[in-house]
Amino acid sequence: ETQQKALFIIFGGTGDLAKRKLYPSLFKLFEKGFLNENFAVIGTARRPWTDDFYRNVVTESLAGVSEDKTKIADFASHFYYQSHDVTDVAHYITLKKLADDLDAKYQIEGNRMFYLAMSPQFFGTIATHLGSQNLVTKNGFNRLIIEKPFGRDFESAKKLNDEITNTFDESQIFRIDHYLGKEMIQNIPAIRFGNIITQTLWNNKYIDNIQLTLSESLGVEERGGYYETSGAMRDMFQNHIMQVVSLLTMDMPKEFVASEIRKEKLKALEAIRVLKPEEVDANFVRGQYGANEAGTEKAYRDEEQIAPDSMMETFIAGRLMIDNERWSGVPVYVRSGKRLVEKNTEINIVFKNVEKNIFGTSDEHEHLGKDVLTITIEPDERFRLTINTKEIGQGFNTNKTNLDYVNSPETKANTPEAYEKLLLDALNGIAINFAHWNEVAKAWNVADVILNSWHNNDDDKTVFPNYLSGSMGPEASAKLLTDDGNYWIYNP
Ligand code: NAD
Repeated sequence: ETQQKALFIIFGGTGDLAKRKLYPSLFKLFEKGFLNENFAVIGTARRPWTDDFYRNVVTESLAGVSEDKTKIADFASHFYYQSHDVTDVAHYITLKKLADDLDAKYQIEGNRMFYLAMSPQFFGTIATHLGSQNLVTKNGFNRLIIEKPFGRDFESAKKLNDEITNTFDESQIFRIDHYLGKEMIQNIPAIRFGNIITQTLWNNKYIDNIQLTLSESLGVEERGGYYETSGAMRDMFQNHIMQVVSLLTMDMPKEFVASEIRKEKLKALEAIRVLKPEEVDANFVRGQYGANEAGTEKAYRDEEQIAPDSMMETFIAGRLMIDNERWSGVPVYVRSGKRLVEKNTEINIVFKNVEKNIFGTSDEHEHLGKDVLTITIEPDERFRLTINTKEIGQGFNTNKTNLDYVNSPETKANTPEAYEKLLLDALNGIAINFAHWNEVAKAWNVADVILNSWHNNDDDKTVFPNYLSGSMGPEASAKLLTDDGNYWIYNP
């Protein structure tokens, strides 16, 4: 790949995301030569910082990323700070002047990457002013990179999308879903469409059910204020879970390009059944963590910035049904929660039993287990195929064997971080790993019914907390599967 010319304008340049993810990722791209002389960054936020102060902040954010002081100093010299209140029109005029000056100084030829790394309430305002104050150039490419959350329901998402599409068209908008930058999520199409084994079996004739678990061991930590406006449904289900489900269930794209992949993902999302309000309780479970058994971990309602009678969910589990020929009758079980046993993101593809068990009728023989393909996303990066084999020794019994492959710590350490990959994709105009508006809209349609149904039942505050910190969530989550004769494969 070649070196790119680009001016990055980062809104929220003093924020947590910028420091933890964006500066280290940009540095990596600089170190690898994807960005070089023709590159500059304007960081904006309200605080009145000098360029020097800002460059120090950027330098400090690279602690542990690189030891190369010369390279870091060279990199930091490309950074400029502009104090900027996003609601003040006059500030965009100042910003435009700086952007044009830097464009000339670094011979960037008009390429601009607008990165919105701040509170989503300002996304619409910023996009509007970028257009009206002519920060969008005529000569180069202009791309808007936008962080989650994208709205809090369909209506607000639509309003936001209308606002940003007044200035940017869909091909210029890169909606970040950082799960799509993860190595093992990007592996799903390779596994599915690169192998005759999986390609042939990936349908309701051979797959019994699909399971997706995104479990976290931490609680809300310092992000209580944000979480009280969000909850697990908006924070994890509407974006990450729906995106991963679409990758797991879509038909094969004609070509491995964004336009074709997005077509198939959208079809998959459209096939997910939108529940009727009266169907929600039978198919979705919400939970909120209490203290742990020992009482050493606080209940959600006792955390900082959380209402003592908060009805926000910190856990969700659900059964998705997909109404198309490929998946009819195959439940897709999803769950995500905080303060669960351990951090783990894992997909389990559970295959059907063989039609006839020829190995006899004794107990061991009767229970030929179902084959399972496990894809672990994080913290391990793993493929595991669990199959039935002969038990070693005399006679003939069967047992389970795991065919296991785990990326080594060295491999993981040398794999670019999600944000680094996504930034490079955006820089190259590759939209495969970004969410299209139609996908976002469809995912909200599915989530809204569930959220509304829960919200209508919020008067009874006694239903929460309903699971212990350090457990795998409320009992109803297990029951969702046992009702179908299934169980969660991942059960730490
Ligand atoms: P943050 O609160 O740390 O940073 C917000 C930034 O916006 C700061 O630089 C602040 O100065 C600036 N700002 C606020 N009001 C302003 C105004 N009126 N004018 C100009 N600047 C203003 O937030 P963050 O954690 O960095 O998150 C930024 C975005 O990224 C959010 O949309 C968030 O949901 C998303 N996000 C963050 C993380 C994360 O790990 N931090 C992860 C995923 C998504």
